[in-house]
Amino acid sequence: MTEDRKITGADAPREKAKPSVAQGLSTATATPEQTLQSSVLCPQSSELYAVFGNPVAHSRSPRIHAAFAQQTGERLCYETRLAPLDGFADAVRQFIQAGGKGANVTVPFKEEAFRLADELSPRALAAQAVNTLSFTAGRVFGDNTDGAGLVRDIENNLAFPIAGRRVLLLGAGGAARGVILPLLEQNPATLTIANRNADKARTLAELAASRARGTGFAELAGQSFDLIINATSASLAGATLPLPDGIFAAGSLAYDMMYGKDETPFLAQARNAGAARRSDGLGMLVEQAAESFFIWRQKRPQTRDLLAELRAS
Ligand code: NDP
Repeated sequence: MTEDRKITGADAPREKAKPSVAQGLSTATATPEQTLQSSVLCPQSSELYAVFGNPVAHSRSPRIHAAFAQQTGERLCYETRLAPLDGFADAVRQFIQAGGKGANVTVPFKEEAFRLADELSPRALAAQAVNTLSFTAGRVFGDNTDGAGLVRDIENNLAFPIAGRRVLLLGAGGAARGVILPLLEQNPATLTIANRNADKARTLAELAASRARGTGFAELAGQSFDLIINATSASLAGATLPLPDGIFAAGSLAYDMMYGKDETPFLAQARNAGAARRSDGLGMLVEQAAESFFIWRQKRPQTRDLLAELRAS
């Protein structure tokens, strides 16, 4: 299982021959925007973490990590950092200089974080994107916990084993790329990747070394699947997907990576098409955070109560 992995030793197979961001601290400059978010409220006895994004004010990660810290007795502060679109690396340097021990990375910086890391975990390499950074001994370690978070939510929280199931992954963007390897590690019967631009789906499937098949939506006609995961951003735009009739097998689970107070367009579409079970991606968000927390603190927080609280709020 990927979730007990730490990014040290054999698990950090790729080292880059370039100066470390952590070593280049003296060149860092603060923008007024970043200075406003300095960590003056973090007591000295606590260690500092943050989520970098743009925008980032809406992020639920500070609330999630504060709850994990309280539950495990770990002394840490976790804040949001709005990095300028052209200033992510500088913002990270400034954060390390301020004592930052680790960070999450969200839209639009996951690919830049991948390029910035000195060492990468296998799953970050597979995803070509990083959502978790750790700063240790002048080095930047990059990992990706999105896929582990998705698998954990589906298998543990939703009690839906992936092994032996016919899995359909909709989308071929960053989110889809990040979950292919963790899904394959669960030994599904088949993994099909379908995308509006079918060539992108086929390219992703080839990267999975023939263990997945890439198609367009129209080619799905006549097939049915046990687990259908929406990793497109169509729900964000309120759009539904051109899925053929009969695609949800009896007892199937429809999973939308997007989450929100209201039923997402994909989950409404799945309900109308007869999907027996449906879930949004809030559990994935909480589980990827728990995986990051484990990487940083070597303690795995319990997630069930927090997930219920977030759903209720
Ligand atoms: P990208 O921009 O990288 O990819 C977008 C994907 O959506 C592409 O495959 C694109 O297809 C497809 N798409 C967009 N609009 C439509 C449409 N109208 N019809 C069909 N396909 C469409 O986005 P990400 O991969 O980064 O994110 C995808 C989703 O996953 C977002 O909703 C994001 O919020 C969510 N997410 C949730 C996480 C969680 O923790 N719950 C974590 C990470 C992501 P094409 O290639 O043809 O353009």
